[in-house]
Amino acid sequence: MDLHADISHVVISEDEIRQRVHELGAQISADYGDEPVLLVAVLRGAAIFVADLARAMSSPVELDFMAVSSYGSSTKSSGVVRILKDLDETIEGRHVLVCEDILDTGLTLKYLLKNLASRKPASLEIVALLSKEGKQRVPIDCKYVGFVVDDEFVVGYGLDFAERYRNVPYIGVLKPEIYAD
Ligand code: IMP
Repeated sequence: MDLHADISHVVISEDEIRQRVHELGAQISADYGDEPVLLVAVLRGAAIFVADLARAMSSPVELDFMAVSSYGSSTKSSGVVRILKDLDETIEGRHVLVCEDILDTGLTLKYLLKNLASRKPASLEIVALLSKEGKQRVPIDCKYVGFVVDDEFVVGYGLDFAERYRNVPYIGVLKPEIYAD
């Protein structure tokens, strides 16, 4: 079974991702300087992105993880979010940078930001690898965005369809027949 055979076309290549993640890492390190940044990766989609982003940063980094589930179908966000795994440590007084795979409607992040802000971090910002053009239903102030993409369902580099394709090293669009199965 070849995952690549299910992809209709590549949207962002491996090289483009590598280059952009390095730019983001350098920019974030420059912005935070000597202040340690707590990267909060939203599982599971951001796992691969955060692993590369952390290594692209030259400033001190700490890592923690949250897992959330959004009710609804696998390709549409409902805005009702449940925390499946919370952070292991307190974030009070710390510089928190939430790492997301993709900003779509923004409903998941809106919920997360409200939740995290109530824990009184020193600062709270977002880095999203991808942002879907014109899809945001709630305004989200995302400080760092890797790429703006068209409004189509994408997989790869952490993003899944029915838990598959996360390990595809580029961002691509699936062939229509894959959704029909
Ligand atoms: P939002 O709440 O609509 O912003 O959606 C956020 C989550 O939905 C993302 O973190 C992804 O896990 C998932 N998602 C949204 N769009 C896509 C996509 O095109 N491919 C894969 N997952 C997506």
